[in-house]
Amino acid sequence: MSSEIIKHNPFQSMIDRFNIAADILKLDDSIKQKLQRPEKQITVNFSITLDNGNVQNFEGYRVIHNTALGPSKGGIRYDTAVNLDEVKALAAWMTWKSAVTGIPFGGAKGGIICDPRNHSKTELEKITRAYTKALSDIFGPEKDVPAPDMGTGPDEMGWLMDEFSILHGRPIHAVVTGKHLHSGGSLGRVEATGRGVSIITLLALEKLKIRPARATAAIQGFGNVGLHSALFLHEKGVKIVAVSDVSEAFYNPNGINIPELILYYNLNNKTIKGYPNSVAIKHEDLLLLDVDVLIPAAKEDVITQKNAGDIKARIIVEGANGPVASDADQILHDKNILVVPDILANAGGVTVSYFEWLQNSLLESWRISQINKRLEDILEKGFETVFRVAVKHNVTPRIAAYIIALKKVAETQSVKEVALEAPLFKQN
Ligand code: NAD
Repeated sequence: MSSEIIKHNPFQSMIDRFNIAADILKLDDSIKQKLQRPEKQITVNFSITLDNGNVQNFEGYRVIHNTALGPSKGGIRYDTAVNLDEVKALAAWMTWKSAVTGIPFGGAKGGIICDPRNHSKTELEKITRAYTKALSDIFGPEKDVPAPDMGTGPDEMGWLMDEFSILHGRPIHAVVTGKHLHSGGSLGRVEATGRGVSIITLLALEKLKIRPARATAAIQGFGNVGLHSALFLHEKGVKIVAVSDVSEAFYNPNGINIPELILYYNLNNKTIKGYPNSVAIKHEDLLLLDVDVLIPAAKEDVITQKNAGDIKARIIVEGANGPVASDADQILHDKNILVVPDILANAGGVTVSYFEWLQNSLLESWRISQINKRLEDILEKGFETVFRVAVKHNVTPRIAAYIIALKKVAETQSVKEVALEAPLFKQN
């Protein structure tokens, strides 16, 4: 293999899979082009006064990929690596995710180039309010509904809701999901993505006839998604032998005591750094451990053609968005590794976001048992459909998920576009 460094681009990875699915569907070129591109992409610049009195400028983005199925929905990321191509990919994945699971939303994503760990709570509040102000004509409960993503959580969503409500002169809870309960949030939203990842992991284990109590797992990332995935799988008897966050990676062949680690993490400024009851390993080695399940739950492009050949896990469940670059797909397929794609595996978040949005819109408050049952039903149905379509077309679950999503969005889009008179699917 060449030693040249390949710069991966998540938007290109999305397009590569899209094209395979579109060819199988014989999707007409005009609709293909339309669905590859975002409907809208906005760059905003704003400034805040820092705690030390200095003024700092920030650049932020909001990309609306598609609204054929409903108001656009998607998180907001705070990270130094945020860029427009990343946000465009994440926005498109939201469109496909909602379509695969049957949630009546379109797809969007937002981001601000910043390191949230370097800002005080006051500064983060100012950043969030300024970003909301800059995008106040884009957001709206029936237009575009943000949610948390990397580096953001219930605090940011609460500030966004409050600022938007102030600007519109009335409380508008349904403009954003992932809020604190006291700001109109939903029970079960904080842990929804991780709960969903664990539901999907158990279904994948069942497919390979591996009993949870005999299964081992390694999880990259110990934030919202990674922590809750670890907790729910631990509760089901899966032995979590390795975890990592940006600071450190740990391995314990006897299984990490996840509730104890969470306690440590909460007392240790939300990091696992220095956790005593495991051996520190190299970050990149966590991905190569001989485990039944590997859950990348941190960021994009961590599995590429460079390391895919060395992966030993039998199942990869994509907790993060885009953790596998498209140039690794064939390698993993040839190694017979079952990859459950992000647009199915981490759809628990958008599903419970949808429940939150519904509760806000209907002025209702649902019980946790009701929320968890509905979440499980939706993900089980999504999983069955994806695997049925994969068998039908003899493709990977990822391409099957894209086929389902593209077909649904293309059909709805063509009804909306009066100008689209060409046939949706090629005749031969
Ligand atoms: P988060 O900010 O809560 O946590 C991210 C975690 O990844 C942190 O523990 C961080 O330390 C760790 N991390 C970062 N770089 C790392 C590295 N190089 N090696 C190991 N760990 C590293 O973010 P999150 O909300 O958990 O999101 C994680 C991923 O899941 C993202 O791809 C996000 O788009 C996706 N996702 C999140 C949600 C949600 O509801 N939060 C829903 C669907 C998908």
